[in-house]
Amino acid sequence: NSQYLLNQREQNVPRGVLTAHPIVVSRGSGAHVWSVDGKEYIDLVGGIGVLNVGHNHPKVVNAVKKQLDSLTHTCFQVAAYESYIELAARLNKLVGGSSPNKTVFLTTGAEATENAIKIARGYTNRPGIIAFRGGFHGRTLMGMTLTGMSQPYKQNFGPFAPDVYHVPYPNEFRGITSQMALDALEELFATAIAANRVAAIIIEPVQGDGGFLQAPADFMKALRVLTKEHGILLIADEIQTGFGRTGTMFGFQHSGIEPDLVTVAKSLAGGLPLSAVTGKATIMDAPTPGGLGGTYAGNPLACAAALAVLEIFEDEELLKRAREIGTRMKAGFDSLKAKYPRIGDVRGVGAMLALEFVKGDKNQTPDAALAQRVMDRARENGVLVIKCGLHRNVVRSLIPLVADDATVDEAVRILGKSIAES
Ligand code: PLP
Repeated sequence: NSQYLLNQREQNVPRGVLTAHPIVVSRGSGAHVWSVDGKEYIDLVGGIGVLNVGHNHPKVVNAVKKQLDSLTHTCFQVAAYESYIELAARLNKLVGGSSPNKTVFLTTGAEATENAIKIARGYTNRPGIIAFRGGFHGRTLMGMTLTGMSQPYKQNFGPFAPDVYHVPYPNEFRGITSQMALDALEELFATAIAANRVAAIIIEPVQGDGGFLQAPADFMKALRVLTKEHGILLIADEIQTGFGRTGTMFGFQHSGIEPDLVTVAKSLAGGLPLSAVTGKATIMDAPTPGGLGGTYAGNPLACAAALAVLEIFEDEELLKRAREIGTRMKAGFDSLKAKYPRIGDVRGVGAMLALEFVKGDKNQTPDAALAQRVMDRARENGVLVIKCGLHRNVVRSLIPLVADDATVDEAVRILGKSIAES
């Protein structure tokens, strides 16, 4: 049972690996998961944004089973296979833009980050990388160095990768306007690193772990102009925002800009480990043969799953569904906010939505303890959520996009009940 396994977990798994909920799950379907004790939960975490097509989608399961029967692995560096090539072509088209794209597959989001930076440095021959405060890009050396928050991702893990700089992320919530963020960039160029020494700027169009804040379209556009002017590449980290989460295929599409490189992972392969860097062919071809890849990178099982995911997006019109879910959930969250003054803000875009909890004072002081209580009560009441935000006071929903209206409504109702009990 759960208790036995959780005790075993304490003894065998280090505490650095956080398990947000003291439960053990054994089965998932659509927007629901079940614990080993048989308790059912509506899953608003979705594997932290991995399950946009839902748990165990039959098409993904069948595609992986079929692939298992023919070929599980060769390593693309040894011999090519069709699913890798076909998926690369599909992603190149989906990312689109004014010139042809190419795609390299990796295994995790952090690896996509690492490789995007390698490609950017290789192409520009410059060292500097700029990232944003509150951003999250992974737990590897470059991933955590780029990550713009200390605890728990960076504390005591230094020294970090050199030539990385952070600037404020624009949003109205902490009083930082787009102009202030742009001024911070100019200031950086005047003091710390000349613009012509910067290889790339990496940005999440909507910060995930940072608290579901969206960079305004005017900022994204200005950033694109500024980067072009200085020969700096613009990397969109779409690892959490990609594959319909915000109501468009990618988050950058809300501002109409064209990034040079795009990193994806999470929902790309519906639960199997797969990530990618997609970008302009001339840039992607900068590294010499052998410079990119990895033993498991673009594994055939994961590529087969990803091809099924893209088919599901079309068949089930999941972009439209993301917008519908987003509108419905936002209305629910807005009505909770009207009822509970300790909800400081309803944040997010499309089906990437969150509730920010505050102490209710005039400064809207973040209340992480309240967010934790809501999360715990919600679990007891049958909904799984996790926290995010620089102050860990934001409760986020990454509900699978296959959820029906009744599930969305029930999730909102249970969250409301949980807030009332907290
Ligand atoms: N970038 C963003 C925006 C993410 O949300 C994450 C994971 O949460 C990552 C990068 C790192 O991905 P992974 O955990 O697969 O290494």
